Amino acid sequence: MNKVQIAIIGAGPAGLSTAIELSNMGYDDIVVFDREDEAGGTPRHCGHLGFGIFEFYRLLSGPDYAKKLTKIAADRNITINLKHTLVDISKDILTFSTTDGLVKYSAKRTVLALGARETPRSARLVSGIRSPNIMTTGALQRFIYLHNTIPFKNPVIVGSEVVSFSALMSSRKAGINIAAIIEEDKELNSFSILKSFSETILQTPVKLGYEISSINGDDKEVKSVTISKDGIDETIECDGVIFSGDFTPESALLQENFKDFNFANNSVFISQAFQTTNKNFFAVGNVLRGALTAFKCFFEGKRLAKFIDDSLKQEKLKPQHVKIEADENIQWYYPSLLDLNYPSKILTNLRVNKKTTGRIIVSVNDIDVYEKQIDAKTYTNIKIPREAYPVSKNDTIKIRLES
Ligand SMILES: Cc1cc2nc3c(=O)[nH]c(=O)nc-3n(C[C@H](O)[C@H](O)[C@H](O)COP(=O)(O)OP(=O)(O)OC[C@H]3O[C@@H](n4cnc5c(N)ncnc54)[C@H](O)[C@@H]3O)c2cc1C
Repeated sequence: MNKVQIAIIGAGPAGLSTAIELSNMGYDDIVVFDREDEAGGTPRHCGHLGFGIFEFYRLLSGPDYAKKLTKIAADRNITINLKHTLVDISKDILTFSTTDGLVKYSAKRTVLALGARETPRSARLVSGIRSPNIMTTGALQRFIYLHNTIPFKNPVIVGSEVVSFSALMSSRKAGINIAAIIEEDKELNSFSILKSFSETILQTPVKLGYEISSINGDDKEVKSVTISKDGIDETIECDGVIFSGDFTPESALLQENFKDFNFANNSVFISQAFQTTNKNFFAVGNVLRGALTAFKCFFEGKRLAKFIDDSLKQEKLKPQHVKIEADENIQWYYPSLLDLNYPSKILTNLRVNKKTTGRIIVSVNDIDVYEKQIDAKTYTNIKIPREAYPVSKNDTIKIRLES
């Protein structure tokens, strides 16, 4: 059994910034683990510019940003154990699968910074053929930026989140012509200007309100997709399909290992101190929700370091958690625990799962204590302020959406 004071799982922006900030505070017994063979997380395969402005005051590409973070960690002598996949955390023992077999660690504090992933085709229940040319944006970026390979020439993109336009830009840079962007909703799931940008400047049609009903071809090749709107089918010729966005936390392992798992969020319950219901485990970055930007995850990591410092210095400090629950109209929310030990201006941050005009209502033990009018899209960040709700440790706070 290896022992370490602080174990951080995930060498992306959230995990590395936590490690760097803890090192700045004087901690030197920190080990970061990652299943990949290089550190840096998702930005490693995002070859476009768009990273680093707030962290380093420089506009960087994803790979340069990942390298910069990794170099800072290396300069601080932070150990990064690569090719270590966390496979179990039962009884607080961290078990990693490595090329040398299973390796076990115990840590005083563990940070889960596992990131999020896009929902693949299998989970979207789209019928039709199987083909290697059906993939997520993340997989496409890996082909292009890590393996220097172009898997197809003329695919469609399904989805219209910001990441879908990242897939569009990466494709164009690699010489791939996108046949169309297909979105089930009647509006774009990101900034509306991206539609005219795609259609006029990039000559890529954006088809709103269309469902993808089947992927056609044979076992090897995609030949077309069938899309439908108001019961009328249309066929688009293409040689691949990129399922983009619809991010979900990388949390399968956590679901198995946490008694109290937040199924509404598909993640662990988390306080404003990033502490889970197991006081030795913290979670940070996109594992808390779908994908937000790298700088958001970076700054969360920096904030988390202070809470870990507190918890190590005040071993006797017991969390005073009040659970926050949310209804099914809420796409994700965090924090999902209010720790009464810490003051907080925000009760929680959330997003809705469809375009909504209505009211967000907060209740404590089923009595409504706060409401707020909203006119929100799926990518609108909503903050619920922590008003002076009188709550005590065993209360339940519920958030519901009425449209
Ligand atoms: C296509 C695309 C384009 C993007 N473009 C931008 C942009 O332009 N600007 C921007 O600011 N953000 C962008 N983002 C978002 C940004 O990449 C993420 O916000 C950021 O990487 C999240 O950081 P993280 O540390 O939470 O997770 P990640 O960066 O995903 O890191 C998680 C790490 O955990 C590791 N891991 C997961 N499970 C295990 C396990 N069981 N054992 C060991 N290791 C594990 C993974 O290997 C990974 O290295 C983009 C994202 C995508 C997908």
